[in-house]
Amino acid sequence: MHRLFISDLHLSEDTPAIEAALVALLAREQELDALIILGDFFEAWVGDDDDAPLADRVRSQLFEFSRRGCEIFVARGNRDFMLGEQFASDIDGTLLQDETVMEVAGRPTLLLHGDTLCTDDVDYQQFRALVHDPAWQTEMMAKPLEARRELARQLRAMSVDAASNKPEDIMDVNQAAVEQQLQAASVDRIVHGHTHRPARHAVGSGERIVLGDWTAEKGWYLRERGNDLSLNSFAID
Ligand code: MN
Repeated sequence: MHRLFISDLHLSEDTPAIEAALVALLAREQELDALIILGDFFEAWVGDDDDAPLADRVRSQLFEFSRRGCEIFVARGNRDFMLGEQFASDIDGTLLQDETVMEVAGRPTLLLHGDTLCTDDVDYQQFRALVHDPAWQTEMMAKPLEARRELARQLRAMSVDAASNKPEDIMDVNQAAVEQQLQAASVDRIVHGHTHRPARHAVGSGERIVLGDWTAEKGWYLRERGNDLSLNSFAID
């Protein structure tokens, strides 16, 4: 099995270099069995019916990549929490549950975005509970796209969802929450993004692998090839 795990590209109309780096990565990774996107692929997502140019460009890039034989899995992050089944279908991919256990490099591994591990951020967890409420999402989706775009702009301006993507503005994971999630899933390895603190940490007999965020200078991925896992960065120019 040859798979790449990525997260936290935070794609928007303000990130042409990151978008170009994604296009280049898709062009260069011709041998992949699967691409797994663990959230915050987009800086914001107002609904799968979004017809903005960025949404159209990215959907068509991913759809073409699927057609070339790579399976694509995508999870929601705290920015693109409105990603849904229609988006997955549009790219001929699969929407992941917020927590997914998948066999990775020979071991069952818990995959998630990572925001749910940051339990010390009480304000954020309250915000998350609100926007993940199906009733809230139904109400949101009933609004016209332009109203949802305005709401997304307002949310970004709110302190609970500060516009900054700097690691010092994002709380790190709570160690007890990590251990509890590992136990609940009966696994000893977890792969997540969100915190923008790429690293491999030993946790008991297992491991916590943190994917990196992409900037105009640097991108990150975790590559799985057989039983081998490597966390890599690469230059973006
Ligand atoms: Mn995030």
